[in-house]
Amino acid sequence: MENDDQDRELARYAAAAKMKVFSSQADLDPKDKPHPALVEWCLQRDGIVVMQSGIILTSNPTSRDVQNCKTMMINQGLRPGRVCAATTQLLSVLLANVEGAEEIEDQQRVEKASTEISAQQKRLRILVQEAVEADVSDLHIEVRADVAKIRFRKYGELYLHAEWFPRLGRELASVAFNKETDHATAHFNPMVPQDASMPLMLGTKEIRLRLASMPAHGGFDVVMRILGTGEEGTIPELVQLVYTPEQVYIIRRAIQMPHGAVLLSGPTGSGKTTTLASCMSMVRETRKVYTIEDPVEKVVPTVTQVPVNTGKDDRSFASFGKAALRMDPDYIVLGEMRDEDTANVMIRAAITGHLVFSTIHTNSAPGIITRLVDMGISPVMLSDSNVLVCLIFQRLVAKLCDACSVPVTQAPAHAEDLERWRKIFPDHIDKLMARGETVCEKCHSTGVGGRTVVAEVIWVDEQGRSYIKNMEILEWEKYLRKMGWQTYRDRTLEMVKEGTVDPFDAETLVGEISVYDEETGFDYVQARTSMEEEVAKKRAKDSSQDK
Ligand SMILES: [Zn+2]
Repeated sequence: MENDDQDRELARYAAAAKMKVFSSQADLDPKDKPHPALVEWCLQRDGIVVMQSGIILTSNPTSRDVQNCKTMMINQGLRPGRVCAATTQLLSVLLANVEGAEEIEDQQRVEKASTEISAQQKRLRILVQEAVEADVSDLHIEVRADVAKIRFRKYGELYLHAEWFPRLGRELASVAFNKETDHATAHFNPMVPQDASMPLMLGTKEIRLRLASMPAHGGFDVVMRILGTGEEGTIPELVQLVYTPEQVYIIRRAIQMPHGAVLLSGPTGSGKTTTLASCMSMVRETRKVYTIEDPVEKVVPTVTQVPVNTGKDDRSFASFGKAALRMDPDYIVLGEMRDEDTANVMIRAAITGHLVFSTIHTNSAPGIITRLVDMGISPVMLSDSNVLVCLIFQRLVAKLCDACSVPVTQAPAHAEDLERWRKIFPDHIDKLMARGETVCEKCHSTGVGGRTVVAEVIWVDEQGRSYIKNMEILEWEKYLRKMGWQTYRDRTLEMVKEGTVDPFDAETLVGEISVYDEETGFDYVQARTSMEEEVAKKRAKDSSQDK
């Protein structure tokens, strides 16, 4: 009864103030939830709920609590949004649905018991928790003179998570660097680039993050990369990573070899660690595996994982690799081949009867050979039949969100390129799909629903070894194509034709897609004609707009 009176009072007030009264969750942005950091505060009061967006919902807009709430938010560095009238019914529904309101209290109790932590340290934990729950890879804190933006990266795309007052951003950055990192001795200085690693306890779970900061005009950026939970994660099978059947066949066959080297290449963040972990999880338990990593990212239970510190000479990939050779191993995984020393350990391990895996940075699978020769390894050594078994190159491509993708023929962003797509994909034009441009809850309106591997895999055969010995890399590629080998470019275009990848996303990966076949060479005359056509079209368009 009392509530009804209150709601009648509210309706009168709202009518006088020309406000809308929020009465159900349908009146709210479905993504907006009660702010986790303020739930406790709201629970202790009556008739007020602060949402993540900063909106203050209240059943009593004239109450002093509303002003107190704004002050409290400002003190915490949060930006109060507009004040909206809401029924007591809606407020209690919102608070009742807060996932783990009890959990929050439990967590606070645990944290209080273990160590006294400051309000900022608590805020930092809540932010990281939100990032982990949203399954994001990186967390960007962009502090400027007037605002601190928190952006999350998921499936390679950034989206805005929250906007704070700059003070909170500065405080969280300092507390992260000064209180939470492994070497919490250095003082955070936003004027110079800094980096550190940060283990953070969230409840009973340890999350490890890599921190980096960079000064910016009017402020600074801090990026936190979420490395892993330090516990046994799920390791996907190669097939789930969307390797093609022949690629899975080659990799499986390589893992069964008694000795040799399997080299995996790709840019940073191309999923190499995950692929290595799935390879290692396929190794029989009767085999001894050493992985030398910087740092250990995915825990594989049947394997001895050794963390290196690349800052110190006596704890490098090369020195740990040499040490592992004395530990009676069957398999050795050298996290990354950055220098000649590590490459030499790889060769030595392979020719002394071990199967060795390593990663390297190149732009293609055949490019691995060129890179190793640049490092100082001789082509003769690389063409030894005991050394190279298999070369893998992989990248990740954005997969379209199935909830909001649209046919390319109806996508405004593709209107100007439609003719080009028609020429390049004449048989598939109706199957091509593009990122949607509508508000989409499923993908935070990024249009991306996930990422998938596109790879090229080479089995190094007798013929291949002779190309390597003579460093005839282009001839080797021609031979491979003749044998039915697929480049990651072929694979990407295949996915465009299937409608799972936006043609523009494919182009960010493989460069401009053109009608010209790589093998016939670049056609300058054709390029000139199509450029002239484009200019003529633009002129016609401009002159029609002038009229
Ligand atoms: Zn979507």
